[in-house]
Amino acid sequence: MPKIFVTRKIPTKGIDLLKAQGYDIDISGKDGVLTREEFLKVLKSEKYDAVLCLLTDKIDREVFEATPNTKIFANYAVGFDNIDLVEAKKRGIVISNTPEVLTDAVAEFAMTLILTVAKRVIEADTFTKAGKYEGWAPELLLGNELKGKTLGVVGTGRIGSRVIHHAVRGFDMNVIYYDVAENKQIEKDYGAVYMDKVDDVLKNADVVSIHVPLLDSTRHLINKEKLMLMKKKAVLINTSRGPVIDEKALVEVLKSGHLRGVGLDVFEFEPKLAEGLKDLPNVVLTPHIASATEEARDAMSEIAAKNIIAVLSGGEALNPVEAK
Ligand code: NAD
Repeated sequence: MPKIFVTRKIPTKGIDLLKAQGYDIDISGKDGVLTREEFLKVLKSEKYDAVLCLLTDKIDREVFEATPNTKIFANYAVGFDNIDLVEAKKRGIVISNTPEVLTDAVAEFAMTLILTVAKRVIEADTFTKAGKYEGWAPELLLGNELKGKTLGVVGTGRIGSRVIHHAVRGFDMNVIYYDVAENKQIEKDYGAVYMDKVDDVLKNADVVSIHVPLLDSTRHLINKEKLMLMKKKAVLINTSRGPVIDEKALVEVLKSGHLRGVGLDVFEFEPKLAEGLKDLPNVVLTPHIASATEEARDAMSEIAAKNIIAVLSGGEALNPVEAK
């Protein structure tokens, strides 16, 4: 019977599918990320045919060498920056991800952060709970409206396009966007306007939402110089991957009074935060939970399992990810 290793407890939907195949499944008993040593040790201890891994597991040459029987690493995420795709391809190891099923969860979360920052919800909550509310006041905690404002989206794939849908249909925003490829569909459906330079999106948007994968080309795509191009009262949201923004530069820029506020679900050195970030009142921080809905996490578990079943049955992965 094929042996599967699951690197951390996940919702049971997918595990049930794997069990129904009669597979022999080992799930890490640790309530946390396996250390490198623990991970390599367990991989070497058995001949695993497949590994269901998470974005917190670094999957590289050393890992592939520790588990030569493994045919597929099914990543429980749509992002795949934790995996050395070039090395996997060289060795003929299949990598899969979980696209589509978390698009709504993440797009809704990006909208949540946009609204939370624009309406200063966390500042208001902190203020009220601190007993500072002494009665209605005309200029207390003024925020901004989204209607008629310009949303700038960087990366208009599945999630970025869905954010545009919510912003246009729900809040009457105008949209400009930057991507390596022009997206005619969002232009047709939502009147989104393509900018062939990220600078033009940053200069002209009132709200910027980032939705690119973490690649060499997107690491520090938003650095100090780019942040300073943004409008002084702009809102910046990142639900993609932390290293897309130079977080130290972001703290400096915010301290200088530039930007209305920032919402971050991901961090450059996750789970660590850049020094000073948490002390800024106009920054909303969440612990990488944009896809954390019951619906998405169940579906991600199912998809990861289905990719494993497809490959171990001699077929193609349903959601393969390959080095370009
Ligand atoms: P996608 O592949 O559908 O879209 C990514 C878009 O980015 C594509 O349109 C692509 O052309 C564009 N792109 C790639 N390189 C670029 C570059 N250098 N400059 C500009 N655009 C570029 O992916 P998706 O499903 O929309 O997911 C996007 C990312 O969101 C994932 O890669 C993942 O890292 C992140 N994510 C985060 C969470 C979370 O919990 N915070 C959850 C899911 C996904």
